[in-house]
Order: sequence, then C-alpha cells, then structure tokens
Amino acid sequence: MTATGHAIIGTIIAAKIGNPALAVPIAIASHIAADALPHWDTATNIAKKGKERVIVESFFDLILGFALSYLLVIFLFPKTDLSYAFLIILVSQSLDWLMVPYRLFDINFPLFRWTYKFQKLFDSSLDAPWGIVTQVILLLLLIVAALKLF
Ligand SMILES: [Zn+2]
Repeated sequence: MTATGHAIIGTIIAAKIGNPALAVPIAIASHIAADALPHWDTATNIAKKGKERVIVESFFDLILGFALSYLLVIFLFPKTDLSYAFLIILVSQSLDWLMVPYRLFDINFPLFRWTYKFQKLFDSSLDAPWGIVTQVILLLLLIVAALKLF
C-alpha cells in the first residue's frame, strides 16, 4: 500500500485508540492487513520505472500522506493529539521504513533485508487504476466507520 494509505490508517488508529500499548501493535498489524489487499504503490512496476523514479514518487507519497493525515486530524478527529498521531503513523509505515534502505538504496543490512522478504509474504500487487481504487474505497470505509461506528 502507498505511504499515504498507511498514514491515513495510522491516523484513524491514533484517533480511536489512545493507549499506545494497544495502538502500536494494531498499527503494525494494520500494515500487514493493508498490504494484503491488492493495491498499487510507488514500487509497482519498479523494474520498468527504475529506482530513481520510485524514490521521487515515494517522497511525494510520503508528503501527501502527512498532509492528508494532518487535515484528517484537524477537520474530522480534532480531539487527537497531533504528535501522537504522527508517532502512530510512523509505526503504521514502519515495515516500509525498514525495507526501503535495502530495496531502494541497496543497503544489505540483515534487518532491512529480512523486512523486505517478510513483506513479500503478504504483499499483494494490483496495477493502477484498480490498485488505487481498492485503496480509496478501503480508506473511505475506514474513515466513515471511525466517524459513525465507534
Ligand atoms: Zn508494506
């Protein structure tokens, strides 16, 4: 899933679960669940696109995720502490943060390599546009559920 998708899920977790002892493991689990949904992300078609383009797109994806999460907190979940939301967002994205040095920058450190291989076990790729549609629908459903059901 895109960094933006993981960030929005992290924001919802932070908004609904104030106890970090619960929110942190749920945020990590959410990464696995979200990546199991067939999705497009900036590394889809990396062989065709090349690493440099993936790095540039991932940077914009990251910024977009922080910006949308900020707007979500301000307008929809105003009782959420911004720094707490930021922390849970980083935890939600953490498996990707740990894989990127190996995947994009060829840093062959065991933890980075292990995280990349671990993610391959559940990551489900689906090219754009449908791989974007799946994410948008999931995120909208989660936001509505967070606003209406809890
Ligand atoms: Zn991932």
